[in-house]
Amino acid sequence: MFDHIAFPTPYQTLELPQPVQLTIKRLDQIHPQISGNKFFKLKYNFSAAQQQGLRQVLTFGGAYSNHIAATAYAAQLVGFQSIGIIRGEELSTQDLNPTLQVAQDFGMQLHFVSRAEYRLRHESEYLQQLQRQYPQAFIIPEGGTNQLAIQGTKEILSADDRENYDLICCAVGTGGTIAGIIESSSDQQHILGFSALKGDFLKHDIQQWTNKTNWSLTDEYCCGGYAKTNSELLQFMQQFEQQYAVPLEQIYTAKMMMGLFDLIQQGHFPVNTRILAIHTGGLQGRIK
Ligand SMILES: *Cc1c(COP(=O)(O)O)cnc(C)c1O
Repeated sequence: MFDHIAFPTPYQTLELPQPVQLTIKRLDQIHPQISGNKFFKLKYNFSAAQQQGLRQVLTFGGAYSNHIAATAYAAQLVGFQSIGIIRGEELSTQDLNPTLQVAQDFGMQLHFVSRAEYRLRHESEYLQQLQRQYPQAFIIPEGGTNQLAIQGTKEILSADDRENYDLICCAVGTGGTIAGIIESSSDQQHILGFSALKGDFLKHDIQQWTNKTNWSLTDEYCCGGYAKTNSELLQFMQQFEQQYAVPLEQIYTAKMMMGLFDLIQQGHFPVNTRILAIHTGGLQGRIK
């Protein structure tokens, strides 16, 4: 449904002092504000909704959810209504942050719920209740990750990407993006995920979507957890942008790139490794 937006995706190769080749696939350039990977995750969800005769989507997210912003934009693009169930009642009385502001500007109805209610977001009883409340809504899970999303993220790598690179890197939140990349990779390739949050549970989440084993995940560069930052990260982000003129944001892509640069500098990869880093976007939530 979104095939008309800004394909083909640009590539950018960086000049590095180390003997590896690093190219960035700029999914951020699919849209100036909305995360590029999210369109891949949403496209088959929207098609499924349309096939069911529904013209409304409902989904879940926290205050920094790029998925919320992307869903709002995608919905507006194809003439759907969108509803966002947002974690944190206290947000309803505060100024919206840039991510939620973007979502609202694109017409999303924001419903702020308590953390206790938000915790029910995967419970079938709660989902049935929401479905009764919004009978016209197609419900998409938090972060947008489901089977339809992975069908979409399998399309991120092109046939050339499968041929031309040895290592594919991407940032990981719920794992839907990396799962599709793994599924569509060639067996000669290795996929390395940089987790934006702490913990081993994500490995199991990813294993639910793929049986392949040519991948690994590190949370060593998550800076303490989801949406957490530190001065090292912010400094890296600024220097990287100055040197390479590629904008990053602090929640996902800066953590990936900081990790990747650290591993390259440590000599972690064989000489002449051809690396493709996926820039997943998220720039509307970037701190300047
Ligand atoms: C959502 C997001 C991710 C993570 O995608 P998942 O499929 O949830 O793992 C990575 N980068 C950016 C910029 C995102 O918005």
